[in-house]
Amino acid sequence: MSGITLDTVRKEFGDGEGTVVAVEDVDLEIEDGEFLVLVGPSGCGKTTTLRCIAGLEDVTSGTITFGDRDVTDRRARDRDVAMVFQNYALYPHMNVRKNIGFGLKLSTQQTAAEIDRQVEDVAEMLGIEDLLDQKPKELSGGQQQRVALGRAIVRDPEVFLMDEPLSNLDAKLRSQMRTELQTLQHDLDVTTVYVTHDQTEAMAMGDRIAVMNEGTLQQVGSAEEVYRTPVNEFVADFIGSPSINVFDATVDGARLDGPGAFTYHLSDASPVEGLDTVRVGIRPEDITLVDDGIEMTANVLEPMGNENFLYATLGGREVTARIDPTKRPGTDETVSFSFPESALYLFDPDTGESLKTKREGDV
Ligand code: ADP
Ligand code: MG
Repeated sequence: MSGITLDTVRKEFGDGEGTVVAVEDVDLEIEDGEFLVLVGPSGCGKTTTLRCIAGLEDVTSGTITFGDRDVTDRRARDRDVAMVFQNYALYPHMNVRKNIGFGLKLSTQQTAAEIDRQVEDVAEMLGIEDLLDQKPKELSGGQQQRVALGRAIVRDPEVFLMDEPLSNLDAKLRSQMRTELQTLQHDLDVTTVYVTHDQTEAMAMGDRIAVMNEGTLQQVGSAEEVYRTPVNEFVADFIGSPSINVFDATVDGARLDGPGAFTYHLSDASPVEGLDTVRVGIRPEDITLVDDGIEMTANVLEPMGNENFLYATLGGREVTARIDPTKRPGTDETVSFSFPESALYLFDPDTGESLKTKREGDV
């Protein structure tokens, strides 16, 4: 068992004019036994990063170490990693027992009886011990994914690498499997990198979350940290559902003027000093409807059980607010809102970098 360190890992595809920088100088430290979730939009370089760690891609530059072993030039089969993919990649003609035991048979000198016992232990751990004689096509998606996991677990690898392993499952099974996977990972205590494009999944699962965009790592932190103290507008927008409201405001000392009736006086003007404009962000869940605040026009109310989303217009811009379920503003009704200053995000209009982030413990 060991942690994983990526040191300025870069992966380019093609050469000359057609070069794609899929992974751009990524530094990342994953601790021994940690469950790290790598999250970002489609095409941002998650799978390529994972394949570099696995040894399925040669890095263009940079180094990868497992514990204190530099594995950069080692082939995949010499790295002691097990990968789990979205499409399960089971052998269709083999039954479950053979699918799970296959890797063991190749890599060890164990007897058939020993392999069988390990396969049965893992199958029991995953609740698929009754399916050992079935073929993949006779199984449900969730059962197939358990078999794929079983195949990874039985090899007792140093590192688990999982690439959107739950994406093909329906929502209910997906959330059940998330919990199972987490429990399993904590029990096995194997360093795991889990890739997903789904920020909700990332927030729910990771010890830590690494947010990636366009080949670069944006921020690494706990769910709480990336949500409350995003380093830039991209992270603020990507993490959180529904997305944060962001708009431009002009700056005049401590006074911010945004769309429509939006005017706000900062208690401390230092974050916006020297700027003419700023990007202002407010999360839907930080908005409260009040009697005397900033006016906007209600459009649509979306009651979602115990949550109530209001879509409103502020100077021509759509604003989403999660409001008190007892409030029921009608279409075109003028409503008035406020928010705590600690919940106001400010971003540099040119770089998108955070100028002031929510302080931990606030709100
Ligand atoms: P993600 O998993 O986050 O969706 P990928 O790592 O698959 O992203 O892809 C990152 C970028 O690298 C994309 O622009 C993709 O088109 C490109 N890419 C990935 N694999 C290859 C390849 N084998 N050849 C050329 N470009 C590739
Ligand atoms: Mg991918």
